[in-house]
Amino acid sequence: MSLSAASNVPALDQVPVALKPTLHAGLVAELAERHRRRAPYDLGDHPLLERQRQRESSARTYPRRLPLALARAQGVYVEDVEGRVFIDCLAGAGTLALGHNHPAVIEVMERTLRSGLPLHGLDFTTPVKDRFMQDVLGVLPADFARHARIQFCGPTGADAVEAALKLAKIATGRGTVLAFHGAYHGMTQGALTLMGNLGPKVALGHSLHGVQFLPYPYAYRCPFGLGGDAGAAASLAYIENLLSDPESGVPKPAAIIIEAVQGEGGVIPAPPTWLKGLRGLATRYDIPLILDEVQSGFGRTGRMFAFEHAGIEPDVVVLSKALGGGLPLSVVVYHERLDAWRPGAHAGTFRGNQLAMAAGSATLAVLRAERLDAAAAELGARLMQQLAALGERFACIGDVRGRGLMVGVELVDAAAVPNALGARPAHPELAARVQHECLRRGLIVERGGRHGSVMRFLPPLVITAAQLDEAARIFGQALAAACA
Ligand code: PLP
Repeated sequence: MSLSAASNVPALDQVPVALKPTLHAGLVAELAERHRRRAPYDLGDHPLLERQRQRESSARTYPRRLPLALARAQGVYVEDVEGRVFIDCLAGAGTLALGHNHPAVIEVMERTLRSGLPLHGLDFTTPVKDRFMQDVLGVLPADFARHARIQFCGPTGADAVEAALKLAKIATGRGTVLAFHGAYHGMTQGALTLMGNLGPKVALGHSLHGVQFLPYPYAYRCPFGLGGDAGAAASLAYIENLLSDPESGVPKPAAIIIEAVQGEGGVIPAPPTWLKGLRGLATRYDIPLILDEVQSGFGRTGRMFAFEHAGIEPDVVVLSKALGGGLPLSVVVYHERLDAWRPGAHAGTFRGNQLAMAAGSATLAVLRAERLDAAAAELGARLMQQLAALGERFACIGDVRGRGLMVGVELVDAAAVPNALGARPAHPELAARVQHECLRRGLIVERGGRHGSVMRFLPPLVITAAQLDEAARIFGQALAAACA
């Protein structure tokens, strides 16, 4: 390829930012119409699913609960190989901010593919990467971005969490970390040490250590039995005591790592005042604060990043999922004073995915141009209102909570006696039935939280009010069927 071909490098500032009336719009309309006409689906088996069961690892996850063989997708809709159409409120576990195959993302990827750019770039720079880096820094708070360094990781959220841990340990010379009950930071061994859920950890026994767990402000099941503001205040007081008491038994850690809204732990938003208090403690005791925004980042909670609801800044922020516009990509962005690691301290072959960076830049452009963060705030409030109304009808709804389009419904055993705070025991069997009844009616929702009893809504941020209302309506029907 001649040097002059460099002029073919895609001009990514030309990224289209409006959903154009392309053939994609036609497909959305077709899928929407087929979804409307659906009957409750018979979710029988299919040879693809059978082969998957026979050949894929027993560690496989989603298809166990959502037995789907996928064929096509556009926007919020996915279609399986038997022509059934579903509203996708899982959206690649919160990855697909713009939904499936958004025209702006597809267009920029096609353009990048045709440009002759080396698609595999290790950590060499390219015009696409340079632009992407500026785009990412451009959506972070300006004060933070001014002093930020960025590390490209490879390419999962868990790998970026690993990088953040190493960064903090090297910068502070300390060896342990503080994490939270209910936390989820990924499945590699370092990230697993931080996980609240013991399920995936028990088989690894004692190899996971060096982490002290702290109480997250989970008002519905308050670890202090207080709930509300009092429970959050008790959590902060506990953490402060742990950090200040010379006999707490807990060494000063390299970092505190936190999700501003716990996702897998059951969609639990930390109150902004609590997060502010935690930021204050981290500063006072000189402990780097790592915000894991892998799931909550890029507009999902109604702000570009969930920590912004508290008006705080992190020392380190971990980004993935929506970052790559649907393709694998992750980064750690951190204050330059922590940049003490040596060359190659966090290497990895697949850190230069140009398509993912181009798709990520296009996604950020659309997010900003269409103010999808503000849309997520509005739509999330609308959804929570409808789910709360269902809570009046169905006693099995213990709690409805969330922030923006990260919404959870905790299902409980309505026949059980509530505790002093009014919370009833989790009802995992009911949650499984509700998930199944949703799927039969054309709605994909995932479960998470304690005992898998929290129904989780993570739709694309481009979902319309009408599509969201339809999802809430189906959820109500599924509850009625599952409770019958
Ligand atoms: N951190 C958070 C908050 C997550 O929700 C996840 C995944 O769901 C991860 C980290 C791990 O990301 P990945 O699955 O890409 O390794």
